[in-house]
Amino acid sequence: SKYVVGVSGGIGSGKTTVTNAFAKLDVDIIDADVIARDVVAQGTEGLRAIVEKFGPDILDQGQCLNRRALRQIIFSDEQAKQWLNQLLHPLIRQETLRQTISATSSYCMLSVPLLVENGSYKNVDRVLIVDVPEASQLARSMARDDADEALIRSIMASQASRQQRLEVADDVIDNSGDESALTVQISRLHHKYLGYAAQV
Ligand code: ATP
Repeated sequence: SKYVVGVSGGIGSGKTTVTNAFAKLDVDIIDADVIARDVVAQGTEGLRAIVEKFGPDILDQGQCLNRRALRQIIFSDEQAKQWLNQLLHPLIRQETLRQTISATSSYCMLSVPLLVENGSYKNVDRVLIVDVPEASQLARSMARDDADEALIRSIMASQASRQQRLEVADDVIDNSGDESALTVQISRLHHKYLGYAAQV
């Protein structure tokens, strides 16, 4: 089966920047955030089940899932949250597997923001962590999203710590420098992964 490298890192660490660079090397990138949206897109069994459970008010005017309304429900209702997780996890797992199997590159990357937090690092062949000091995470996230410091700090506090991520890492990309400093690191890892993929 396909060799899968799981990629993660905290908010603003540079996951997208890094996976874009691997994509340029023709590595197929599977994005867990995109899959999480796709499994509840219009016309899916996921969305149908959610409407059946919570009623048509869970849809917006365009008949799409109103994420804010759903977030509000599960924020205050632990049973609803569990129900939703039990619905979504198998759908997400199935779709991730499907995309992994249909990947055509010799290895593929699975980008999962919460790889460490949700335990899915156990389901990949190798874990690649994009690492930066917290001060850079903060500065880059604030610059990109035009968000205030308190918001970014609260998101950082809800995520795994830098230390927790490094503990599960097989490989680490140091993104504390400028973007040109990524090129050599990415090229080395790419050749290493091609070698691993050739062995499976
Ligand atoms: P999130 O989880 O918040 O979506 P991410 O981990 O995908 O973030 P990116 O979007 O790749 O991170 O990077 C965050 C911001 O920092 C972007 O605006 C990006 O252009 C910038 N950035 C990434 N790497 C560097 C770097 N080495 N030097 C300066 N800026 C960088």
